[in-house]
Amino acid sequence: MSEVRVRIAPSPTGNLHVGTARTALFNYLFAKHHHGKFILRIEDTDLERSEEKYVQDIYDGLKLLGLHWDEGPDVGGPYGPYVQSQRLDLYLEYAQKLLDSGKAYYCYCTPEELDAEKQKAIESKQNYVYSRRCCDPEVAQKLSQDPNRKRALRFKIPDDPKTIVLEDMVRGTVTFETALIGDFVLIKSNGIASYNFAVVVDDTCMKINHVIRGEDHVSNTPKQILLYQALGEPIPTFAHVSMILAPDRSKLSKRHGATAVAEYIRNGYLPEAFSNFLVLLGWSPPNGEEMGTLEHFATDFTLSRISPSPAIYDQEKLNWINGYYIRQTPLPELLEKAKPFLLAYDLTQYPTEKLLLMLEAVREPITTLSELPNAVSYFFESVPSYEGDVYDTVLKTDDTFNVLRQFQEKTLPGLSFESPEAISAQVKAFAGELKPLKMKTIMWAIRSALTGRVHGADLGKTFYILGKEKVTFRIEKALQEISCQFS
Ligand code: GLU
Repeated sequence: MSEVRVRIAPSPTGNLHVGTARTALFNYLFAKHHHGKFILRIEDTDLERSEEKYVQDIYDGLKLLGLHWDEGPDVGGPYGPYVQSQRLDLYLEYAQKLLDSGKAYYCYCTPEELDAEKQKAIESKQNYVYSRRCCDPEVAQKLSQDPNRKRALRFKIPDDPKTIVLEDMVRGTVTFETALIGDFVLIKSNGIASYNFAVVVDDTCMKINHVIRGEDHVSNTPKQILLYQALGEPIPTFAHVSMILAPDRSKLSKRHGATAVAEYIRNGYLPEAFSNFLVLLGWSPPNGEEMGTLEHFATDFTLSRISPSPAIYDQEKLNWINGYYIRQTPLPELLEKAKPFLLAYDLTQYPTEKLLLMLEAVREPITTLSELPNAVSYFFESVPSYEGDVYDTVLKTDDTFNVLRQFQEKTLPGLSFESPEAISAQVKAFAGELKPLKMKTIMWAIRSALTGRVHGADLGKTFYILGKEKVTFRIEKALQEISCQFS
C-alpha cells in the first residue's frame, strides 16, 4: 500500500465539536498505525457562517487532545494551501475540465424556478431531482441572454453506471441509484465551489487515499464517487463512522451538556482523559484494555474494530475515566493543570511540597478538576466554613468540646509535625487515652474543627499541610465557638 494519507476537514462554523474531535482521533490513529500522514484542511466555503475564531478553536482543541497534524494551514505541506477559500481558482480549473469534456453544464434557473420545481415534486410525492432544463443547449443559450439570471455549473449525472456501489470499511456494502441523485451544482452562482466538488478536488490534489468521516456524509458519497470517475481520478477508501448519540438515542446536543471540546477542558476534564474517552466511542481495543495513550491505541487501531452502531455518549464513563487520569497523573503535572482552577486561592501560602501533598490527599474521590476548589477550600480559608449540619451536630456538642480541650491541653503543645505519619500516630495515641469515647467521635471532633467537615483528606496529612500555627488557631477557635453556646 502507498503511504496512508488521511485528513480531518472541519468547517469553521462552530467550535470544535465532540463528534469532529472523535473523527479526527480515528483519522490520527489510523495514520499513526500505518506510519502515514494526518492532514488538517479547513473547509470554509460557507463564507457566511465561517469565522476565524472557530478556526482558532479547532486548532486549539485538536492540539489539546494531542492531535498534531503533519500538513495543514499553519504548518504547510506539499499540497497546500490547506484552506478551501484559498483554493477557489483550483476548483474553477477542475470545473473547466468537466465543462470541456461535456460532463458539466451551465444552469441559469433562478432560485424561484428551482423552488417551484421542488414544490411540485413534493406535492406529487416524488423524489426531487433537477429537471435538467438547462442541459438543453438551446434553452441554456436563451436563458443566458437574460441579464437578471446568474449561472451555476451543474454536474451531468451519467447514464451509466445506474447503480453506485460503496464498499464502506465500517458500513459494508451500500448501493445508490443514480436516477435518484439529480444533476447537482459544482460551482454556485456566487462563484464558490459546492461542498461535494471542493472535497473531491481537494482529496484528489492532496492525495488522500482513505476518507474517514461521519455517517452524515454517506449520502454525499455517491456524488463524490461519480466526480472521481468523471475526473478519471482514483477513488479513496471510505469509512463512515456512526454518530455519537445521547443516552436517549437522540442527536447529541447542548441540552445533554457540553458539545465543544474546549468546554470540557474548561469544565475540568483532562485532555488525555477526554481523548481516551472519545477513542472508545465507537472503537474497541482488541485486548479489551480501555485505558491508554494515543500511541498505545495507534498500535492496535484498525477500521474493522469501528462499530457500525451508534456510539452512546456516557457521562458517567467519562467521569470515571477522568477520575482515573486525575489519580494517575504525576503530582507536579497535576498541580500545573490544577492551577487555573484554583485562582481564587493564594497558593503561595504553602510551599510546593505541601501543595503536592494536598492534591495527593484530596484527589481520590474527585472526577473533574473543577471539584478541586471545594475539595481544598479549608486549607485556604482562615477559619473553615462548616459543611451541611456539621456545625450543629458535630462541632457544638459536649463530646467535641471535651475532645478538643483535652487535645489542646495534653497533645497539641508537644505534637511533632515532622511527618503526616508521625502526626497520625500521635493523634491515635491521644484517642486511645480517651476511652470509652468512640474513635469516630474523637476523629470527627478534631476533623470538624480543622476542616469544617467529617470526611476528607487523611488527617495526618491535613495536620501536616496546615502546620502547627494554623492547627493551634483552629482548635482554639472551635473551642471558643462551642463555649459561646454554653455561656
Ligand atoms: N467539512 C465537512 C464537515 O465539517 C467534512 C467533509 C468531509 O469530511 O468530507 O462535516
